[in-house]
Amino acid sequence: MAVDVPALLADLDDEARRRRALARLLTLVEDGSPEQLREVVASLHPRTGNARVLGITGPPGVGKSTMTNAVAGELRSRGRTVAIVAVDPSSPFSGGALLGDRVRMQGHHADEGVFIRSMAARGHLGGLSFATPQAVMVLDAAGFDVVVVETVGVGQSEVEVAASADTTVVASAPGMGDGVQAAKAGILEVADVFVVNKADAPGAGKLESELRGMLELGHATGQDDAWWPPIVRTVAVRGEGITELVDAIDQHHEHMASTGGLADRRRRRALHGVREIALGRVRERFARLGGGDDALLDDLARQVEARGLDPYTAADRLLAAVEQG
Ligand code: GDP
Repeated sequence: MAVDVPALLADLDDEARRRRALARLLTLVEDGSPEQLREVVASLHPRTGNARVLGITGPPGVGKSTMTNAVAGELRSRGRTVAIVAVDPSSPFSGGALLGDRVRMQGHHADEGVFIRSMAARGHLGGLSFATPQAVMVLDAAGFDVVVVETVGVGQSEVEVAASADTTVVASAPGMGDGVQAAKAGILEVADVFVVNKADAPGAGKLESELRGMLELGHATGQDDAWWPPIVRTVAVRGEGITELVDAIDQHHEHMASTGGLADRRRRRALHGVREIALGRVRERFARLGGGDDALLDDLARQVEARGLDPYTAADRLLAAVEQG
């Protein structure tokens, strides 16, 4: 697909063309060529760093998209523009035309200040952990005040993606598998704000006290500037608790800004982005090397198995070939 990147970037500054340009830029991020992505990112990078990045994660069905929608409404009423990237690792679809997007758009139809996009995990260069930071960059450069990254917190890379936000909200709900499961998934450690959604359902109180117990176990006390993740109860379908949630998010942001934690997070995000691009390039060269079937690797493996080569020397040769690639 030939894409006129300079024209797309120019369209980003044209109000009438911005949304279409954004949609196309995000498709490029999702499945574009590395050369085009490089051009996009290099041009946009100097314009980024202004958006607040908010991660919302949690198991499927806890009410993340309902909550994200309500949070977007609350942010709009506070005068801020919002872009949402909903990352779906299981979906084979892409292109921002998912049914879920229409559900998400409810209440934001005519609002130019809200942009919503789903992304699927089909990127060839490392999937979502490669594509998501670049999608955030595009939306940041487009001038949105807040970029929300909504992920299903099931796998390590999804948790990592959410955790590289300025503020990470971890959502749970009663009856969805208990908090202990979340602890196992490594989700608890990355939470800046906990949400117990579906507070109208039985078991919300129990879930909250379980979470509180785990927090008290897991958090070192005595540090003056340590952030203690609050637990906010919400009924996202009715918009209840959303004001308190956005207040907690803002308080976390202020805390981070005043303690230097925000700069640390943003450095970590930059690190993550650079690492993913580098790894993407290595993966790509690996793939090219083998002509699709890893012929060199196959050959090296044969030699190792025939005791003609030790595995470290074989790895050296593979890496040398990658470097030349
Ligand atoms: P996600 O998979 O985490 O994005 O969850 P959804 O936002 O799609 O919500 C899953 C289901 O839970 C939907 O049927 C929602 O209507 C419902 N739901 C969301 N929030 C609440 C809530 O606060 N209370 C109740 N009872 N149901 C909710």
